[in-house]
Amino acid sequence: MRTLRDLGDVNGKRVLVRVDFNVPLDDGAVADDMRIRAALPTIEELRRRGARLVLVSHLGRPKDREPSLSLAPVAARLGELIEAPVRVAPGVVGDDVSAAADELGPGDVLLLENVRYEPGETKNDPELADALASLADVYVDDAFGAAHRAHASTEGVAQRVPERVAGLLLEREVNTLMGVLENPARPLVSVLGGAKVSDKIGVIDRFRESADTILIGGAMCFPFLAAQGHSVGDSLCAADDVELARRILESGSSARASLELPVDLVIGDRFAEDATARELDGLDVPDGWMGLDIGPRTASLYGDVIAAAGTVFWNGPMGAFELAPFAGGTRAVAEAVAAAPGTTVVGGGDSAAALERFGLADSVTHLSTGGGATLELIEGKALPGVEALS
Ligand code: ADP
Ligand code: MG
Repeated sequence: MRTLRDLGDVNGKRVLVRVDFNVPLDDGAVADDMRIRAALPTIEELRRRGARLVLVSHLGRPKDREPSLSLAPVAARLGELIEAPVRVAPGVVGDDVSAAADELGPGDVLLLENVRYEPGETKNDPELADALASLADVYVDDAFGAAHRAHASTEGVAQRVPERVAGLLLEREVNTLMGVLENPARPLVSVLGGAKVSDKIGVIDRFRESADTILIGGAMCFPFLAAQGHSVGDSLCAADDVELARRILESGSSARASLELPVDLVIGDRFAEDATARELDGLDVPDGWMGLDIGPRTASLYGDVIAAAGTVFWNGPMGAFELAPFAGGTRAVAEAVAAAPGTTVVGGGDSAAALERFGLADSVTHLSTGGGATLELIEGKALPGVEALS
């Protein structure tokens, strides 16, 4: 993968940078700027080198040109962070946009409008890719969060600009995750949670072969517990997932990693902030109750394994952490990961949100900005956005 370091002189050149500014908005302002801050090293370096920057990103899933999904609030926040004006283009492509790009001086920054305002983006439409390529002397892809999609602003445009490299964020994301897979300090502990086994089956399979221990939490534990014969009450537990879990448990003896399941739970009478919650010192969830978090004994056991790890990869919350009564397990694991002396890598949108919520985002070695892209890379799939850079 060619990177920023492989680029020659970019002084005065138009550099199209695909960034991932798909951030949460609240009342017309950026609610969480983690993804914007993550792109700053590439943006700052290119500005220092005198490039004329044209940034392109998607935001949400507009069905039309919904003004509520304009990138204007993102431009305002980016401008504050780089302490320089960031202009928003009058669209994604077209004569007015080309004119705005032509007006850029060295170090200036133009942000194109939400690239998904163009229906051709997600179809990887050749005309849109041509139009984007016409704005660029050089293409830099720094949007790891979008690298698993073959879209016009990722795969299509890269094919059309001869000078194309990975930005600093994309480079760090790929190198860190490949390091976890290929050359981890051992023991390698993978902490996997979240909603569904089927979402993460490829990741579980990969870590079965490469990790030393897999710690399972979140709703994902119930299909495993059901496969072992426990009652799961009203817990989230799809029948298909029970079959997947059964297969994983049955193939256990041939796998490298041991797979650990919770030993206790926190259960609630419903999925709500004001639910009745209680600790269950066991694993059989009574009828009328749902398992919504790992219990304190599990959190403590998992914490010990994490503390002894050479490398930790964590994806997926340990419970319904958005609800205060069921956040304890995720908080305990987050604190254990933050305090662990080994290399710690966290991926997944909700896992990242949990770390941010607990104020621990800066206490891990690497907090991935990718959700789907992280999982696909771990599963061993090729990422079209990365492939197109070679
Ligand atoms: P990530 O985005 O980090 O990959 P997922 O999207 O797979 O994580 O899962 C996060 C979601 O799983 C959260 O919304 C959380 O509320 C939910 N979740 C975790 N544990 C439970 C549980 N025991 N019951 C219901 N939902 C749960
Ligand atoms: Mg999620």
